[in-house]
Amino acid sequence: MPTHFDAIIIGAGQAGPTLAGRLTQAGRTVAYVERKLFGGTCVNTGCTPTKAMVASAYVAQKARTAADYGVVAGSVSVDMKAVKARKDKIVLASRTGLEGYVDHMPRCTVFNGHARFESTKEVRVGDDLLSADQIFLNVGGRAVIPDFPGVNEVPYLTNVSILELDALPRHLVVVGGSYVGLEFAQIFRRFGSEVTVIEKSPRLVHREDEDVSASVRTFLEKEGIKVRTSAECIHFKPQGNDIAAGVDCTDDPSDSIGSHVLLAVGRRPNTDDLGLEKAGIAHDERGFITVDDQLRTNVPGIWALGDCNGRGAFTHTAYNDYEIVAANLLDNDPRRVSDRIPCYALYTDPPLGRVGLTEAEVRKSGKAALIGIRPMTRVGRAVEKGETEGFIKILVDATTKQILGANILGTGGDEAIHCILDTMYAKAPYTNIQRAVHIHPTVSELLPTVLGDLTPLT
Ligand SMILES: Cc1cc2nc3c(=O)[nH]c(=O)nc-3n(C[C@H](O)[C@H](O)[C@H](O)COP(=O)(O)OP(=O)(O)OC[C@H]3O[C@@H](n4cnc5c(N)ncnc54)[C@H](O)[C@@H]3O)c2cc1C
Repeated sequence: MPTHFDAIIIGAGQAGPTLAGRLTQAGRTVAYVERKLFGGTCVNTGCTPTKAMVASAYVAQKARTAADYGVVAGSVSVDMKAVKARKDKIVLASRTGLEGYVDHMPRCTVFNGHARFESTKEVRVGDDLLSADQIFLNVGGRAVIPDFPGVNEVPYLTNVSILELDALPRHLVVVGGSYVGLEFAQIFRRFGSEVTVIEKSPRLVHREDEDVSASVRTFLEKEGIKVRTSAECIHFKPQGNDIAAGVDCTDDPSDSIGSHVLLAVGRRPNTDDLGLEKAGIAHDERGFITVDDQLRTNVPGIWALGDCNGRGAFTHTAYNDYEIVAANLLDNDPRRVSDRIPCYALYTDPPLGRVGLTEAEVRKSGKAALIGIRPMTRVGRAVEKGETEGFIKILVDATTKQILGANILGTGGDEAIHCILDTMYAKAPYTNIQRAVHIHPTVSELLPTVLGDLTPLT
């Protein structure tokens, strides 16, 4: 006989633990199943460790360029064991905090193991058979291992194993010039590795506008990162103790010889070993679970939250999924995924803060639009900090005066973008920001200036 609960939650990522909190507060019993580490990707192998390492890399770079600021710092070297220890401490504190929260939750029973569906209402975890009328999937995703020729003949790293390095790679070849790959590329370059980025598309971060891609490439190359785009035929072979990564680029056909290779070519959902077929849960051809605007699957009583539903790929979208499900189930508040405005950051230095549509998307939409652009060389705070790479770009609907999208690629861009995001959520015209008095000197103080200087997008 299965052990019955009011709800089963599978996966302790970014949506499930707080949902368990709300459900148990409402008097319901919850079985919580996690097969590995509480906190999932973000806490253990994603946001938290990478941003801790971005911080170490930033300090290394500042120390290296200290003379530019009139500071005498001497030669710079990085102690990878100490970098890792700092990162591990931050991760551990976050994970144990979350683990303790769930462990001490009244009416919540934790099962450590891999969950698989037996039927629409039953889940097996090892010897335990659990049943519930409501099942919430928060199983997240993992790195794609592409079937490039030779990939299985060479050792490779993913976002998980690269975080375990406690010695500096001599030459790190990063395959994938998008968000995850570029963060690691800059981190390790600043630590002192030679770094080559290999990207299949003709440009880095190819989902962004061309001017953003170009600017990111410029500042990475200035730091000595080699970039090989249009790598249409990536393949590997062992070469002594090293790894030869062939790209067959039109511009440079020679192989990159790396001591380490990081594969950062995308993520796939952890749904292939969940027994979805036994519950009849629909998914797309890549394994992302199909959900409606309230995150319900096609099977009544089963929801999918976070990266596994393909409706977001970020911690804030996974957390918002929890808010949507809790609001609909417990608060009679009809929140929807479609209420969400796309926003995210790329944590290179300088970072890219992004919200809404890109310029290319606005052009494609055919809307009459206005555009404002300002280079960071004309932002006082950036000049004072000696961090003038990048630019601000804002796009406005010429008819409604509402902001359609923006990027702030520049120092503080990941924070300053929220002025724009909140104005978009308020559905307020751009003039609200334009007439606001912002604090001097900040990056945000130039947003009214950019908006006061809009021109038609032609
Ligand atoms: C290198 C890197 C950096 C990132 N940086 C950022 C960032 O700066 N900002 C940001 O917003 N996002 C970032 N992300 C993305 C972010 O980590 C994810 O979007 C987020 O973790 C998704 O959360 P989730 O709750 O969907 O799943 P996850 O956090 O992946 O958690 C899923 C959990 O489910 C468990 N699980 C899976 N299958 C089963 C099963 N069958 N039985 C039991 N348990 C199971 C897993 O063990 C895991 O603990 C980054 C990702 C990577 C890889």
